[in-house]
Amino acid sequence: MPTKKVVVLPGDDTAPDTVAAAMEVMRALRMDIEFVEFPPGEQWVRGETDKAARAAIDTSDSTLFGSTSGKTNAIVYLRWGKQTYANVRPCRYLKGFRSPLADPDGIDFVIVRENMEDLYLGLEGPLTALEPLHLYSRLIRRELDTSERGIYAIKVITERNSRRIAHFACKLAMRRKAEGYPGKVTCTAKYNMLRESDELFRRVVEETVAGYPELKYEQYIVDDFARRIVQSSKDLDVVVMPNLYGDILSDAAAGTIGGLGLAPSGCYGDDYAYFESVHGTAPDIKGMGIINPTATMLSAIMMLDYLGFRDQAKRWENALRKVYAEGKVLTPDQGGSGKTVEFTRAVVANL
Ligand code: ATP
Repeated sequence: MPTKKVVVLPGDDTAPDTVAAAMEVMRALRMDIEFVEFPPGEQWVRGETDKAARAAIDTSDSTLFGSTSGKTNAIVYLRWGKQTYANVRPCRYLKGFRSPLADPDGIDFVIVRENMEDLYLGLEGPLTALEPLHLYSRLIRRELDTSERGIYAIKVITERNSRRIAHFACKLAMRRKAEGYPGKVTCTAKYNMLRESDELFRRVVEETVAGYPELKYEQYIVDDFARRIVQSSKDLDVVVMPNLYGDILSDAAAGTIGGLGLAPSGCYGDDYAYFESVHGTAPDIKGMGIINPTATMLSAIMMLDYLGFRDQAKRWENALRKVYAEGKVLTPDQGGSGKTVEFTRAVVANL
């Protein structure tokens, strides 16, 4: 396998601590990877570092990304520039995670979140700007009153992006089926209220899954689905949903296994992928040395899988499993008193 090139963007606030932890394990795994490391967001020279980061991303195989609070600008390029349209957020319980549920053993599903559109296009503005459109609501049977002081936000669902994410979810479900998972795609959205936008998403997913006869299909309205995440998530396999619901529900999913410190994510396009934790930059615990690096480590494990370092990914996952099963050096969010560096040392020792 030729040398792989990975860009490392440590991110902002406390995120760099988690990326440093993941890097320590990757170095210990001694893989044929060239790392191109950038400074934390606080040290970025606007414009200059952005340009260098884009150039490095363009010649790399993948990026490991620490979360940003806006200082590490490259996220926009990673997401929209590289068209990483599928945000994959596994939710898997490992023994030793501090789940609030009585019986979390067996929770193991994946949220596939559409990453390009929905309400996340930043199309907002004053209501008065909509006046010339004379928008009529079929639901409340009257024209929108644009004379009110207020703001609109536009939600966009396209057939192309819905089909693209639906195919991605199906292919993931097929790969998981080959590993023994049930082979099921669940679609969730608010299609009973948003009878055109979310209904388009739902219809396209249903049609797409029908093209994979080995897969089962089911659908739930998103509020019902929110309850299911808490009450019966062991029935889930691959769940596909529009952007906003995916953002919110993956935090809820993380809560069921023990919190944000444990939830990884990868953003995949047709020819590029980058990996980062679900959590943000945790500014409230900056400088305390206690952030849990597990979410970033699990994201890096997803990256190793993507790059073809399957054995090393497995070794890392097994080491994490052991550290949690022993429960001796866990970080405070998991009920321990360990520091980030102590936890990381234990993972390396168990590789
Ligand atoms: P964003 O909007 O960028 O997702 P957020 O406002 O949701 O960010 P987070 O940074 O995700 O905020 O943090 C939410 C809470 O969870 C904070 O109290 C933070 O300290 C905690 N937290 C987040 N990640 C971790 C972690 N890896 N280890 C321990 N605590 C964490």
